[in-house]
Amino acid sequence: MLRVGFIGWRGMVGSVLMKRMQDSQDFKKLNAVFFSTSAVGGVAPDMGQKQKTLLDAYDIKALLNLDCIVTTQGGDYTNKVMPQLKDAGFKGFFVDASSALRVSDESILILDPINYSQIVNGIKSGTKIYSGSNCTVSLMLLAISGLLKHNLVEWVNSQTYQAASGAGANNMRELLSQCGVMHEVVAKDLQDKNPDILDIDRKVSAILHSKQLPTEYFGAPLAGNVLPWIDSGLDNGQTKEEWKGMVEANKILGFAPNTLKIDGNCVRVGSLRSHSQALTIKLKDGKASLDEIEDIIKSGNEWVRFVKNNKPDTLKYLTPVSVNGTLDIAVGRVRKLNLGDDYLSIFTVGDQLLWGAAEPIRRMINILVEYA
Ligand code: NAP
Repeated sequence: MLRVGFIGWRGMVGSVLMKRMQDSQDFKKLNAVFFSTSAVGGVAPDMGQKQKTLLDAYDIKALLNLDCIVTTQGGDYTNKVMPQLKDAGFKGFFVDASSALRVSDESILILDPINYSQIVNGIKSGTKIYSGSNCTVSLMLLAISGLLKHNLVEWVNSQTYQAASGAGANNMRELLSQCGVMHEVVAKDLQDKNPDILDIDRKVSAILHSKQLPTEYFGAPLAGNVLPWIDSGLDNGQTKEEWKGMVEANKILGFAPNTLKIDGNCVRVGSLRSHSQALTIKLKDGKASLDEIEDIIKSGNEWVRFVKNNKPDTLKYLTPVSVNGTLDIAVGRVRKLNLGDDYLSIFTVGDQLLWGAAEPIRRMINILVEYA
């Protein structure tokens, strides 16, 4: 059985990966070993494995014993251990949720409903590094895979609405704490049947500007606010999150760099889980009717759930709350823009912790169990 080491299993992505693997009985197919960067010697999660305590995630000797390292710990960890593993001659597979190795020539991005043969060919030809791609990229490609298969997409402009949990467990906690502080300051006023709404607004605004609101992780209030900046900045005015869109999508699709043009704004919003995106798509050919486009979108893959363009269906089925914890890729608000017949507007929502992170990794582990 493949000996697989898990690092980062208690984080946001790691926890969802553990749950999915338990539900899918994946641990029965491998020999799991658990590591930690902060609680070495502590109790490992019980997945029916032999080893019950946590090993040191920085112990290169221990890592060398593995056939496969699965890390959902983050880019700093990968950047630290990968050079040491290479120096030590690690021959196993490295499956990583972080962006650290995504653009490396030595890695393949994993999104098997789109690039299964690229992955399997990679294993057969000796590629050892498999990186999960950016969450909004994976969710977008799954949402428009039908349009891509029909070669209809000339370019995509994406406007994202990314949930707090996309930044990690501590960020999700911080958003909830911010909501609590905001509520507390006006709790009594809200009990009043005829409150002075401007007084409530003043009190909430004051607290949002004060130091009482916890902002250690986001660096600004997210509750009652939106943050149009995710990740670091680049010289061309994009954020790195925005840059990833075109770079990673082309790599997954097996295209030369910049073949499919993608750009837009990435924005953090106060939803807890699941990312939304508004896509403007320039079609290569605008002749297809909306009914035909609906069929093409639905044919993309088994997880696409098409939502009719009306208010009740949209509010019920095309929101983060409606897809949280599911593998559904909701696609709705589909219409031609007034800009012309070639311009399609789509709104899509998917759980960034599932298809955007943990699920491609879980499936990659299963592909390795089969082919490695
Ligand atoms: P995270 O929740 O911050 O977890 C990463 C590590 O932080 C954990 O393994 C844990 O390590 C430590 N940690 C510190 N405080 C914690 C707390 N209160 N609860 C749980 N863990 C805590 O990060 P993440 O969101 O899972 O992201 C991991 C990697 O996946 C990153 O590279 C990220 O960019 C990528 N990714 C994330 C998402 C997403 O939606 N979140 C989507 C796609 C890709 P120790 O146990 O060793 O202390």
